[in-house]
Order: sequence, then structure tokens, then C-alpha cells
Amino acid sequence: MSVALALAFPEPLRLWLSPPPVQGLDARTSADGRLLGHFPYGEASPDDLVDVAPGQALHRDAAEALLAMQRAAAADGVELVVLSAFRPAELQEELFFAIKSERNQSALERAQVSAPPGFSEHSTGYAVDLGDAYAPQSQLSVNFEGTQAFAWLQANAARYHFTLSFPPGNAQGVSYEPWHWRFEGTAAALQLFEPAHRLTRS
Ligand SMILES: [Zn+2]
Repeated sequence: MSVALALAFPEPLRLWLSPPPVQGLDARTSADGRLLGHFPYGEASPDDLVDVAPGQALHRDAAEALLAMQRAAAADGVELVVLSAFRPAELQEELFFAIKSERNQSALERAQVSAPPGFSEHSTGYAVDLGDAYAPQSQLSVNFEGTQAFAWLQANAARYHFTLSFPPGNAQGVSYEPWHWRFEGTAAALQLFEPAHRLTRS
């Protein structure tokens, strides 16, 4: 759906004209381009990705900042573990549909906790899921907010240009994810996440 078409047609007609963007999912995008709350994101170029942990890569700008942040945290006795970083759309598709089926979730339920393929911040190479090495049971759980790692991130992450993507009650309507942080320390990264900011401001 082009911008011109989106502007030229009223919502019901626009919805009728645009096919569902993700195969296997009936949901259609809203006027601001979101699908079940999530904004569309392109995939990072492989040339821009560098490893930050075994099997985990980020865009080089985010990687550099993350490594500096991990070093600073370690100096304060906090060990930030990379649980998930760059995810290609193919892996996101698997995560979305396989777990949706395993947990017997509707697309809407699943979308509250995971982005549909093509709509994940992880595919940009700028988003990372972090854990606390000393509290492995809190990984990818809201309990992460009770860890020293989370307290450290809240106090220091902004210094490294990392921000919590989905705070409690976020305007996107995505479940609170205290472990999911995105890098906004370059013009390119900031531009990618501008639609999310605009929504938060409105
Ligand atoms: Zn995440």
C-alpha cells in the first residue's frame, strides 16, 4: 500500500484494497502502518551486523554501544546477558507462528507478546533482549524488572542510547517487556523508530 493510496482512500476502502501483509494472519495494517500494534521494520543488511555474543549479532553501531554498556555494568557488578539480538524475518516468522500454535494463542494474543514477521524491532539489528546472569529464572519475564540488571539499565542505559521499547501502558499496546531495549544513538537508528516516538507523543 503506497502512501498516496493510503491518503486517497478512506479507511474502509483502504482496508479492502490492501491484502493482509503476513501470510497466515488475517490481520491488516492500520492507517499508521502498524499490524496488531507493531510497526513495520526492514531487515538489517548482513554487512552491518557484528557479533555481540555467540550466535547473536547487532548493527555495528548498536553493538559498540552495547559492549561499552556491558563493560560499565560489569564494573558495577552487574552482568548483562544477550538473550536475543538481530532476528531475520524468517526466524521471527517461526517464533510467531510456532509458539502461537504451541500456546494455542490467537494472533491477537500472540501479537501482544511477539511481533509478526516484518514487524519486529529485532530485524533492524538495533534491538536486544537482555537478561541478568545472576537471575536466569527472570529471563524474558516481567520478573526481570526486579533484578539488579534492570535497575542498572534504568539508571544507565540512556547514557549508551538504549531505551525501553515497551514500557508499561505503552501507546502501541504491546505487553510490558522490561528485557527489550532498542538503540537510538545514531540518526539512522532514531529515524527508524521515529513512528514509535510519534505515537507516544500523540
Ligand atoms: Zn525483544
